[in-house]
Amino acid sequence: MVLIAGVDIGNNTTEVAVAEVNDRGEATFRGQSLVRTIGIKGTMRNVSGIIDALDQALQPLQIPRKELAGVLLNEATPVIGDVAMETITETVITESAMIGHNPTTPGGMGLGTGITRSIADLGTASTDQEYIVIVSRETNFQLAADLLNQAVNRGVRINGAIVQLDDGVLIHNRLSQPIPIVDEVRYVDRVPVGMFAAVEVASVGRSIEKLSNPYDIATLFNLEADQTRNIVPIARALTGVRSAVVIKTPRGDIQERRIPAGSLTLIGDKATVQVPVDEGAEVIMDKVDEVQPLTEIRAEPGTNVGGMFETVRRVMADLTNQPVGEILVQDIIAVDTLVPQQVQGNLAGEYALGNAVGLAAMVQTQKLPMQMLARKLQEEIQVPVTVAGVEAEMAIHGALTTPGTKAPLAILDLGGGSTDASLIQESGVVRSTHLAGAGDMVTLLIDKELGLDDLDLAERIKFYPLAKVETLFHLRHEDGSVEFFDAPMDPRLFGRVVVMSELGPQPLPVQDPIGRVAEVRRKAKEKVFVRNSLRALAGVAPGGNIRLIDFVTLVGGSSLDFEIPKMISDVLLEYGVVTGRANVRGSQGPRNAVATGLVLTSAGTGYGS
Ligand code: ADP
Ligand code: MG
Repeated sequence: MVLIAGVDIGNNTTEVAVAEVNDRGEATFRGQSLVRTIGIKGTMRNVSGIIDALDQALQPLQIPRKELAGVLLNEATPVIGDVAMETITETVITESAMIGHNPTTPGGMGLGTGITRSIADLGTASTDQEYIVIVSRETNFQLAADLLNQAVNRGVRINGAIVQLDDGVLIHNRLSQPIPIVDEVRYVDRVPVGMFAAVEVASVGRSIEKLSNPYDIATLFNLEADQTRNIVPIARALTGVRSAVVIKTPRGDIQERRIPAGSLTLIGDKATVQVPVDEGAEVIMDKVDEVQPLTEIRAEPGTNVGGMFETVRRVMADLTNQPVGEILVQDIIAVDTLVPQQVQGNLAGEYALGNAVGLAAMVQTQKLPMQMLARKLQEEIQVPVTVAGVEAEMAIHGALTTPGTKAPLAILDLGGGSTDASLIQESGVVRSTHLAGAGDMVTLLIDKELGLDDLDLAERIKFYPLAKVETLFHLRHEDGSVEFFDAPMDPRLFGRVVVMSELGPQPLPVQDPIGRVAEVRRKAKEKVFVRNSLRALAGVAPGGNIRLIDFVTLVGGSSLDFEIPKMISDVLLEYGVVTGRANVRGSQGPRNAVATGLVLTSAGTGYGS
């Protein structure tokens, strides 16, 4: 009887399974552990994490590490998945044609049009004109209201105001005649005077209707068909906001500009094709499918994608002591997204959603570094260490310990950096594949689309459902259910969208309604995992035909997600495939498949004797 340990080094997680193997090669599992991987998978830095994981698995057994007869590593071809965003459109305003933004408390309501005029010049305003008044920070709200009321008494028609400070409501409350007021316009000095302008404020909980519709803008501003085409980006940028100003200036223009995003060269066994990144994810992924099997992907130097490819290859080269030239990008996944971007030439820090393409790239290297890692580990722990099997193959042997499964069977390993699939035939023959893009990319998409710039928070949004704090004593979960509390919540949570993390409700720094946040989260998961599950299974299915697969089990960290398994299972059902989450060894859920598989396959090859 000997004790052996299987170790699965993943991009995110290092997992260990410990088993006793008897002289008939039968394994009895005694323990397991899971720690965060230190360093990039398959590199020397992993060693300390592995030792920690071994100790954690052995600790309850009270067995010292040196009594292990052997440690088995997965052949983790070091893979770096890097994810990047390539923005392909941006909104540019020339000559201050638009302000559309979402101040939290605009004043008044409705639509007003007129000629822009500074409040300082209101005394000389004509009674034959209609005006939109500009109030900069020099005029306090009381004085502003007084000046507006005086002008109105004199017969000046004032139909709206544009205010620099957060004073919309304060001014509005003091007016004899209510007008719509857009406030918090930071660069109010850039608003041109003497120009025709329209101001619109919607009631609480609604968004503006006129200035987000190109034809209404055309009506208000007397535009020709050509000019109407030009203001479409304005209308788009103003969709969904609560208040907006549109100003017509002589040369004023707003454009949606495409940013040259570089191109990708996909080199396959049979063909080589080039695809410009700004064609979008659908086109890129169609081409990727077309040139399968891929040998290498190159990106145009001097572009963002080119830079991303370079970084990934250089990092990998440094880590593995290989020349950069030997390191190839072998797979990519592209996903279309919309990211909030500051509008160029903005007046109030306006954002518009720009199109972007998210890319995850994967690099593979030679086997060499794994052997180096094994030697280093062996030196450290003084136990024989072997590289004992390819990860995706081991995963399927581990998954087959799920009660109710037998070959033929396919698995999807939904990890952090990559999505892997393997298929075992009744004969025991295994095919496997390894694709760029998994949980980390979902987190990145959530981060970018919500403009968070906080990956930890994005990760929590991915993990946990949302809720809205409606009063300090109750919140409404995203499924509509209501939860009450005996003690009041932190007042800072009031009215906020929160993520129900392990630390309790945590507020999100976004103004988006809960429905949009949930939508962004779900879409990100769907875009990455539905596409990649289909790609991965097609890669291992006989003749690429997913319909020929009957059963799929899901393993890996992302199959613990509260939404992803259902999304995959729904789409696979269309192919007649039955999908479920693995329960490795009847006890580990979708975790520990690779580590378990390593132990089982090695046990059979004479370890115990
Ligand atoms: P790897 O094999 O690449 O190390 P894992 O199998 O450990 O990866 O999976 C890591 C991924 O799983 C990460 O993207 C992480 O966010 C995700 N993940 C882990 N636990 C959960 C969970 N409970 N819900 C959703 N995602 C999870
Ligand atoms: Mg893994």
